[in-house]
Amino acid sequence: MSELTIRDVRAIMTSPTGTALSPGDGSLQKRLIVVKIETSEPGLYGLGCATFTQRANAVRVIIDEFLKPLLVGRDAHRIEDIWQLVHHNAYWRSGPAENNAMSGVDQALWDIKGKVAGLPVYQLLGGKCREAAAVYRHAGGATPQAVEDDLRRYMEAGYRYVRVQMGGYGGNASLPTPPAGAVAGDYFDPHGYALGAVEMFAHLRDKVGFGIELLHDVHERLVPIEGVRLAKELEPYRLFFLEDLLPPEHVEWFAMVRQVCTTPLAMGELFNNPQEWKMLITNRLIDFIRCHISTIGGLTPARKLAVFCEQFGVRTAWHGPGDVSPVGHAVNVHLDVASPNFGIQEWAGFSDLEQEIFPGCPELRDGYAYPNDKPGLGIDIDEKLAARFPCPDGVLGWTQTRYPDGTLFSP
Ligand code: MG
Repeated sequence: MSELTIRDVRAIMTSPTGTALSPGDGSLQKRLIVVKIETSEPGLYGLGCATFTQRANAVRVIIDEFLKPLLVGRDAHRIEDIWQLVHHNAYWRSGPAENNAMSGVDQALWDIKGKVAGLPVYQLLGGKCREAAAVYRHAGGATPQAVEDDLRRYMEAGYRYVRVQMGGYGGNASLPTPPAGAVAGDYFDPHGYALGAVEMFAHLRDKVGFGIELLHDVHERLVPIEGVRLAKELEPYRLFFLEDLLPPEHVEWFAMVRQVCTTPLAMGELFNNPQEWKMLITNRLIDFIRCHISTIGGLTPARKLAVFCEQFGVRTAWHGPGDVSPVGHAVNVHLDVASPNFGIQEWAGFSDLEQEIFPGCPELRDGYAYPNDKPGLGIDIDEKLAARFPCPDGVLGWTQTRYPDGTLFSP
């Protein structure tokens, strides 16, 4: 095999969708970051997702000012060795900014390897276990009836898995009066939310039956024992899974959930490293792992995690929100179709503009996401078009969530 070295590593940032709610508040604006690695072979390059929208500039600096000097001139074929090198190079490791930068490099090298081999990445992972990945969509509304209406819309479109939320994360229960002088921010009432979630599921199962798979995301918005109680109360409604019931700081409580009910549990959206998932998997305390692949460091660690989960009967449900770049979604789907223990894929969908900036996005048909069959990840970027949508600066609003009495809590 002829020598193939890394010639350039750089971050590309773009923000093609979303509008800031107010000047200086970039809460809803997606800041996508993609790494492009160019090689010694003219025209041969790879792309990888490094999107950490809340700290995008920190990731960009790591890529351009630390990883580029570290990696230029190295053998582009040595994915595992380069992953280990980057992982240990800063001495302190496993932080989300560092991991996302590393993911961009890692996925770009898998893309390059696929192009060199003339094979899509799923072939490098062992080939297909299935033709496409079943996805779930997100239905919501202010009332049980409104959620039902939105759910029926997805059912009629052929979806078999739908996540249902009433009033968004944390519900929409009216808030008890906060103390005088309480600071501005995103408030929610955990008591009203938990009651509303049960009411919503009772309504939906009564109206649409049990033929459709339903999911729900708690988004860590309950104290642990209230989470245990909610999982137990939702058991009769046969969820496909209950997502992020507990924050990463309180995962030991999952053992108590297991003692009181069989509601399937999905966890891992906020995880950064193996110390956070090892105990949960080996003790069979969760049913689905749903890490954000770029935040755990890329395809290399995600592939290992999928295999690790397979040994314990845990399925995959990789995080697939709007703040994963289309390159990252492509990686999700390549891994989904090649993993025997694939469970479900979250699917945010792509805007027309995103598909124009990223030609070759995975395709969605009848509730299934299909990977691109081109060599590598099968997805490209129009850098000129991407540059027309620069990332905004701003202070995040939605992660400043508070209880009714004004206490800051997990968002
Ligand atoms: Mg979630």
